[in-house]
Amino acid sequence: MISTAHRELPPSDGQLVRVIRGGTVTAVRQLYQRHYPAVHTYALHCGATPIDAYELTSRAFTQLLQTLLSGELIPERRHPGSVRRQLQDLVRRTAVSWAGARPASLSQPFLEWLARGGRWPFQDDGHLSFAFALLPATPQNLLWHLLVEQDAVADVARITGLPRAEIPPGLDRAKAQLRRARISLRADRLGLTQCRIALRAVHGEPDGRSDADVMRHLRECAGCHSVLDDLDHLETRVQRTLPPRLLGWWPGHGYGQLKARINPPVSDPPFLVQAVEATRAGQSGSRSARRRDHTKPLPPGRHRRITRSGIALSRLLSRAVAATRPSGSGATARGATRLRPGGAPITAGSYDEAQGPVLPAERSEARILSSSTVLRFDGVDFSGSRDASARARLRATTGDLAVLELRLDSPRAEPCARFGASNGPVCEVVTRIPVITGVHQVFVTVLCLTEKPCVEFHWFATT
Ligand SMILES: [Zn+2]
Repeated sequence: MISTAHRELPPSDGQLVRVIRGGTVTAVRQLYQRHYPAVHTYALHCGATPIDAYELTSRAFTQLLQTLLSGELIPERRHPGSVRRQLQDLVRRTAVSWAGARPASLSQPFLEWLARGGRWPFQDDGHLSFAFALLPATPQNLLWHLLVEQDAVADVARITGLPRAEIPPGLDRAKAQLRRARISLRADRLGLTQCRIALRAVHGEPDGRSDADVMRHLRECAGCHSVLDDLDHLETRVQRTLPPRLLGWWPGHGYGQLKARINPPVSDPPFLVQAVEATRAGQSGSRSARRRDHTKPLPPGRHRRITRSGIALSRLLSRAVAATRPSGSGATARGATRLRPGGAPITAGSYDEAQGPVLPAERSEARILSSSTVLRFDGVDFSGSRDASARARLRATTGDLAVLELRLDSPRAEPCARFGASNGPVCEVVTRIPVITGVHQVFVTVLCLTEKPCVEFHWFATT
């Protein structure tokens, strides 16, 4: 029914942000579903491997959540009103911060951009980004999501909170606003009264001059001519120059093609599961803290009710992010590890115990695993090697990326090794691991973005 259409609209990004600021952490799930393909695609272009990209993506969402819960206004200072660009901005910042300690985690094009000074293209078409910045959030989002990201109308409706039918006319209005803002900036720069009058007349702001005068000036004035020429190609300019101007690093053509192949996740990521648990714990703690605080004034800068629990949750979330980091990425990842006997691979089929589904594969030693599978291998001896890397032979069996993790002595321990699996032929993946000595049980688990089995696992070994 038309009369109920407005009521059935899902919450916009802006509404979700307000709800999260109010302490409802679970609302980040909708933002995650909505923006994961784009943010993860951006991260795939910054990171060296799918697992690096997964970490960059998780960190970006976690940092956004932390900032919203802590009551800070920082996300609104950059990319106001755009959750997508805020997340991509966070991905780029984290990737830049890895340049010193973890260059091997960054893609070659990203490293090359950093080697050139990580410069933003300020020389190109500055007026367009200034004009864009002058627009309110909704026209900005329409231009960005429809022209740059080329998102589906249904997705843009969810992001902006506008009914679908209002998206195409909204885009036309946004383009007109951008044109007017740009003309205004360029006309001011040209400085000449005749130019300002003529350019504004073209966009429906007549200033008493006759049309013939205006047309003559536009024909004869090179400055005005170049402005109008730019405006003829506005869409192309938005697509080509806005992303690098606003985000600094932008992968270009490959972005859209790759994004089309990335599906939204079907289950909650580890950071969200931990955030929800942390909020539950934090809320009960902060309620009692607030009750106590009624007897004394709040310290300066702590007037928001959410701030106190937000800080506690931020700490817990920091730990959650740390847990997503592949082990062995620090300076301690050197030393002696080897699996007995002599680093020979331990085949998937030789496990001592399995929980959850374990399906046979074409090769007899391989097994196909899902997110609920745990394989236990007993008596794995890690002593005797000088190397500190682990290998696994595997592939993802669905179109999505998947992660295989090794844990020592408990299926709930932090992983000591993580391997990214991508769809395609079976391949050998190498990852660094921390120094491990002695004999351990090894638990193998996988992280799928679907409920279905997602990893064909052949063997693991140290080198
Ligand atoms: Zn002129």
